Amino acid sequence: MPTSTELIATADAHSAHNYHPLPVVLSSAEGAWMTDVEGRRYLDLLAGYSALNFGHGHPRLTAAARAQLDRLTLTSRAFHHDRFADFCVRLARLCGMEAVLPMNTGAEAVETAVKTARKWGYRVKGVPDGRARIVVADGNFHGRTTTIVSFSTDEEARADYGPYTPGFTIVPYGDLAALAEAVDEDTVAVLLEPVQGEAGVLVPPPGYLAGVRELTRARNVLFIADEIQSGLGRTGRTFACEHEGVVPDVYVLGKALGGGIVPVSAVVSSRAVLGVFRPGEHGSTFGGNPLACAVALEVVAMLEEGDHQRRAAELGDHLHAELALLAGTGRVTGVRGRGLWAGVDVDPALGTGREISERLMAEGVLVKDTHGSTIRIAPPLVISKEDLDWGLDRLRDVLAA
Ligand SMILES: *Cc1c(COP(=O)(O)O)cnc(C)c1O
Repeated sequence: MPTSTELIATADAHSAHNYHPLPVVLSSAEGAWMTDVEGRRYLDLLAGYSALNFGHGHPRLTAAARAQLDRLTLTSRAFHHDRFADFCVRLARLCGMEAVLPMNTGAEAVETAVKTARKWGYRVKGVPDGRARIVVADGNFHGRTTTIVSFSTDEEARADYGPYTPGFTIVPYGDLAALAEAVDEDTVAVLLEPVQGEAGVLVPPPGYLAGVRELTRARNVLFIADEIQSGLGRTGRTFACEHEGVVPDVYVLGKALGGGIVPVSAVVSSRAVLGVFRPGEHGSTFGGNPLACAVALEVVAMLEEGDHQRRAAELGDHLHAELALLAGTGRVTGVRGRGLWAGVDVDPALGTGREISERLMAEGVLVKDTHGSTIRIAPPLVISKEDLDWGLDRLRDVLAA
């Protein structure tokens, strides 16, 4: 068996360096715990950026995947398959919507939402051809495709990938007046994360999402909520929009929808909006495949029961109470978040986010830094209170050292 050091060196020599992983090589996992090739165990406080909301190897999800693997895995959308109808009905119902357009990755679903909004703008709203605009927020993260990075404000994500796709207006996140100013007769959609994940788990000011809802409705503009990271239980509700009693026109879902097993994403909306597509106008070879539908159906079934949302709310209250105490020590300069999801700004004097993450790793806790000295905490929703407390103790130790 090669050591983790050898495996990392080989991977470094033979892969593009578009990531800078922590120096750990994982080989198995269960629930909230992961094990590396040397047999060391780590508490997972990242949960695959919320793709693992239900933890590693959830028995209901692996059972659904295994059963489907032995029956039918791929048909392409050239034919119908027997899991598709149920998947669409149940996911649409979970969202309080009518129709589903399945894709695979989050970025593909965002691209699909952009195409949906533009087509709706031309066909339904009557925007002159080629003029459609979509308003987005400063600090957004919606994925990595060329169109999506065209409206990123993160230079690292955007630089050197031009020429950029036009048609996007960027406004400050959380600023309703700026948004109202930016919307004009050519605006087809406002695309937002209800909580900005990559930006450091930024929760918008109270009333913002409700204000966006009101404004978009009044101006005949689609409100597209990218709930790829904030949705499916993470914040203590099925969708983060629910915290303000808001239902957008379009949900964009991904990450946890695939149960941490397969990539599954979707655009979920009304029949009127998704009805703009006709055969041949959009598609994906793998989108809505039987294996994806089987796993996502089980994810939807689990969310229909509501236990994971309740758990995220309860444990989230506990997490935020503990982090508030830490913030009182002065070693933490800011804490934000909702539910089982937090951005923790560490005093830069204690080290960069990367350095803190490496020290936590040495203590048996896996997290990921974002933007300088911010640590993101997003454990699987199935984590026990004892394990969460143990992880928080390790964070306290690292910050005290
Ligand atoms: C992760 C993420 C995406 C992109 O998803 P991929 O599956 O990585 O393409 C888009 N939007 C948000 C809010 C995300 O967190």
